Amino acid sequence: MAGIFGKILIGIYVEIKRSDGRIHQAMVTSLNEDNESVTVEWIENGDTKGKEIDLESIFALNPDLAPEEEIAQSPETPPPALSSSVKVNKIPTNKNRRTIAPPKNETPARDNRVVGTTRARPSQQTEQAPAPPAPPPIQHQTLQQQQNARRKSNCVKEVEKLQEKRERRRMQQQELREKRAQEVDATTPNYEIMCMIRDFRASLDYRPLTTADLIEEHRICVCVRARPLNKKEMSVKDLDVITIPSKDVVMVHEPKQKVDLTRYLENQTFRFDYAFDDTTTNEMVYRFTARPLVETIFERGMATCFAYGQTGSGKTHTMGGDFSGKNQDCSKGIYALAARDVFLMLKKPNYKKLDLQVYATFFEIYSGKVFDLLNRKAKLRVLEDGKQQVQVVGLQEREVKCTEDVLKLIEVGNSCRTSGQTSANAHSSRSHAVFQIILRRRGKMHGKFSLIDLAGNERGADTSSADRQTRLEGAEINKSLLALKECIRALGRNKPHTPFRASKLTQVLRDSFIGENSRTCMIATISPGMASCENTLNTLRYANRVKELTVDPSAVMEGRTGGHQMTQLDVLEAQWGVGSSPQRDDLKLLCEQNEEEVSPQLFTFHEAVSQLVEMEEQVLEDHRAVFQESIRWLEDEKVLIEMTEEVDYDVDSYATQLEQILDQKIDVLTELRDKVKAFRSALQEEEQASKQINPKRPRAL
Ligand code: ADP
Ligand code: MG
Repeated sequence: MAGIFGKILIGIYVEIKRSDGRIHQAMVTSLNEDNESVTVEWIENGDTKGKEIDLESIFALNPDLAPEEEIAQSPETPPPALSSSVKVNKIPTNKNRRTIAPPKNETPARDNRVVGTTRARPSQQTEQAPAPPAPPPIQHQTLQQQQNARRKSNCVKEVEKLQEKRERRRMQQQELREKRAQEVDATTPNYEIMCMIRDFRASLDYRPLTTADLIEEHRICVCVRARPLNKKEMSVKDLDVITIPSKDVVMVHEPKQKVDLTRYLENQTFRFDYAFDDTTTNEMVYRFTARPLVETIFERGMATCFAYGQTGSGKTHTMGGDFSGKNQDCSKGIYALAARDVFLMLKKPNYKKLDLQVYATFFEIYSGKVFDLLNRKAKLRVLEDGKQQVQVVGLQEREVKCTEDVLKLIEVGNSCRTSGQTSANAHSSRSHAVFQIILRRRGKMHGKFSLIDLAGNERGADTSSADRQTRLEGAEINKSLLALKECIRALGRNKPHTPFRASKLTQVLRDSFIGENSRTCMIATISPGMASCENTLNTLRYANRVKELTVDPSAVMEGRTGGHQMTQLDVLEAQWGVGSSPQRDDLKLLCEQNEEEVSPQLFTFHEAVSQLVEMEEQVLEDHRAVFQESIRWLEDEKVLIEMTEEVDYDVDSYATQLEQILDQKIDVLTELRDKVKAFRSALQEEEQASKQINPKRPRAL
């Protein structure tokens, strides 16, 4: 009877399926011939548990252990009429398990990016596998056939026994080695989850993106890039919960726990234009994302490319280049790769004749303020003229003649960005870095490519407990990322009005979000670790919303023109009238568009912050003016006092002039004091509002 156990031995580990559907490993502790079953044991929450499982179920889950003669059956050769042989055909092989892999050639529905949330536990793999054919009824086999099969010659049996013994020894050693390896593995904090993910992956058919894949024309391109686990994550045995099975699908294996504490995986699937796995190089990411946009700016268009994600997910690595050790190799970043192609394009006959000049700017937006990274972080003002043209006053625009010039500028900007910082990420995670390549023809703007390394998105609305500085930072990041999403969505839908004024980021990039010749690309970067799961899902949900309502680009082109768009915008803006604050109106619009994420309290808080930032600018501006004025007063007073030193000075004139100066001083200073008072109460209001924040979905952006 030993043959019926195939390669099952006492002490080896087998996969077992629990009544709740979970599949995990357990050790075989006895072989029960009488009822053709085995007893297995495993440790759960510190207790040893056991179960008797019939052989059929064991072989179904562990096909490798099934009796060899059975496995050897090819589908073409009719199986000997043995009931145990017939079972072979029931064993789900990896091949039919693959049926749960994402559809390979089917074109996904474009209107709904989330393919679906599947509670795909490994158990479902077997559950979803095609139903095994029912075994032929036993009466179809003749008695003779059964006897023939069972009654092998004694000689053969002896040889088999010897072979079996040898095999058993070999297997025992092998199992022992495996057992030891598994015991080591079993100490990893999430061993169970690791096995589930491993099994799930084994069932997939991988078809990653290759250079042979078509580069599609997108007006809005949204893609995702996962980085590899880093040393720190590996040292704490964090698990990689991201799977990218194909060129446009990303899966997050989210560990969940049932009320009875059993754990299972919830696999969430998202579809984007492209999905880059952790082996993808910057060059490859560039090829499908920013490279197609280089042509846009030569064709008099505006292009933007954003890296969006939590801090440490790979935004700077993607945009700026590899930061290994202290030095950043910026030649491998998208900034430099784009610059390289701009200079290549410039040489093409079609563009050469245009006589274009290339310029670059590099600035940072932190807490709603703009700092020039090419001019020792000079603080710059953003102004909007009567024609709604936004200008960053005094922004240094440097002419560049070749890629090396650009690399030098990126280095200058990067060192300026991180100077005085203990960690490169500490500051950069709270600011947006904007690198622009501008094409000009006889001084006139021809096209502009803005490449943006966004602030870390993890600072959502967790602003209530922090100090003011952190609160304002968080509010500004939250607001700007929401506004960015709306602006891109509006670009896709050619909406007449976008809430671009709700944040400095969108205000500064405004010209890139309008017009039919604008294109954008978002690279959502994600950390693969289980510890980052929540942030990763937030990143993917955000990226998903950026594109979900995108209309067909050709329909957009045929539809409204840029001119029409502007007219509607003008009408809307005209309706606002004098005295209203466009910033506040845009903020309101933004919050209405994101009701799900922005609670009324959060809106009040954002309003308070906006007001505070506006007032701060005003107070500073007025204070500077008063300071200048004071210098003049001092000079006037000096003249006046000197006059009194004359023997026959005019007392009347002195008194009149002094009174005038004092009146003026009092007026100006009172006005400034009132503004400061109002500013102080705005600060208090902000503090009050921050305490009321009750975000509907904390951390979500
Ligand atoms: P972020 O800018 O999003 O905060 P970084 O780009 O600084 O994140 O990346 C964090 C760390 O991970 C860096 O040490 C970086 O070198 C590394 N890293 C990021 N992306 C990758 C990648 N695709 N391959 C290898 N390492 C990466
Ligand atoms: Mg960074």
